[in-house]
Amino acid sequence: MQAEKTQTRVYQLPLELEMLYDGLDDLGIGPRYISHIRKGEWHVELGGPRHEYQSFVLAEIAEKAEDVQDGKVELIGPDLQEIEPDSSLPFGIEVKVYGSELNVDHSEFVERGTLMGLLFLEGWMLVGARTNVWVRVNKKVIPRSSFVKLAQSMRASVLSMCPIAEAVEVRIIIGAPEVGGQELVNKYLEHANEYWESVDARHKGLSDEDVDTFYGCTICKMIAPNHACIITPSSLPYCGIMSFYSAKAIYDIDPSGYVFEVPVGDVLDSKIGSYSGVDDVIWEKSGHRHKHFYLHTTIKYPTTNCGCFEAASFYIPEVDGVGLSQRRYFGPTPIGISFSKIAGMMSGGAQNHGFKGISVLTIRSPKFLQGDGAWDRIVWMPKTLKLEVADVVPEEVYDKIATEEDCLDTAELKKFLIDKKHPVIQKYWKDGEPQPLEVPFPGEDWPE
Ligand code: SF4
Ligand SMILES: [Zn+2]
Repeated sequence: MQAEKTQTRVYQLPLELEMLYDGLDDLGIGPRYISHIRKGEWHVELGGPRHEYQSFVLAEIAEKAEDVQDGKVELIGPDLQEIEPDSSLPFGIEVKVYGSELNVDHSEFVERGTLMGLLFLEGWMLVGARTNVWVRVNKKVIPRSSFVKLAQSMRASVLSMCPIAEAVEVRIIIGAPEVGGQELVNKYLEHANEYWESVDARHKGLSDEDVDTFYGCTICKMIAPNHACIITPSSLPYCGIMSFYSAKAIYDIDPSGYVFEVPVGDVLDSKIGSYSGVDDVIWEKSGHRHKHFYLHTTIKYPTTNCGCFEAASFYIPEVDGVGLSQRRYFGPTPIGISFSKIAGMMSGGAQNHGFKGISVLTIRSPKFLQGDGAWDRIVWMPKTLKLEVADVVPEEVYDKIATEEDCLDTAELKKFLIDKKHPVIQKYWKDGEPQPLEVPFPGEDWPE
């Protein structure tokens, strides 16, 4: 059994377009199969927040046709049925795509096609993207499922979503202990990190002021009606699978699809991120629910949330400051609830003044929450997150931002901020006392 498990197996999928889904007929495919799989229901969990695993899903655009063998599937490590029930393992998926008209600007688009091949597959759960991925496979589909079927679904999804993709090759690495565990996955992760670095570097340097068109995305309407994301060079959606360039690429490939153009219109307030063009589009796309969408604020008319965010910012009236938290932090926050409660409250597409879905990448944006006062207003964040983004926190405020080790309620937080002389006191408090804003209920307007 051991020897059988450690081998690398190579499969060949049929190449004829009409056979794209051949052999997948016993599994449901489509948005209605998006599911959350609870403890006790899953056979195997791959990646995810509960372990120290480094897992990844990479979609890479190959430069040369000969670099991709269409339909080839390589499985390194055990297949589903060979894994002990209730196992948690690190994993990696590499999807290499070639198309004569494809270039690296299409990377995130192809990545999305790849992820949808998993997300839409019956009995498979997916949260996140890139190195922040979490997959569960339901016990119920184990007799009908395999990693080759997953690869086939991913290839089919990429080819049908992106008509200029011509060839797709998939490698799935399952880091079971007997094949080398995390170390095996790390070997491939290194290449993935290099690829993302080169793509991200290419996309740096452009700013909101340089363009007259932003983009919007409504792919998550299925889980959050009235929700849309606005994508600008400096505000990337928190799902982590799209950049300004890839939104543009998606729109160019399919102008009547989920991604649409958003004319910038008049710049009403560039600091808070208020644009007439954004307001007009969001009014239409939200079914006349949201009048304003301010891109760089948590507090006033923030962008809405589906459920794909890995972190959140939230207003703390008692200190008139803003806190940050993330999915990987399980403890309470100073507002008395955990991240998962905050996430549950703010998901679904309503406009929740005082709450905004974000990602670690958006924290790194130079315009991050500049409408709220940026780092001069941020007063609390989990220690792990603080360490993760330490390089972008201004040195003079770093020690003035509290973590769970300093305080877990607003009274202690207030004391901490006073002790440390946090800039929020000087810039937003009056006479040494916070001036809490009265935040309207979700969907309601701010007083003029
Ligand atoms: S989170 Fe936003 S940008 Fe990402 S897929 Fe959903 S709607 Fe599109
Ligand atoms: Zn979403």
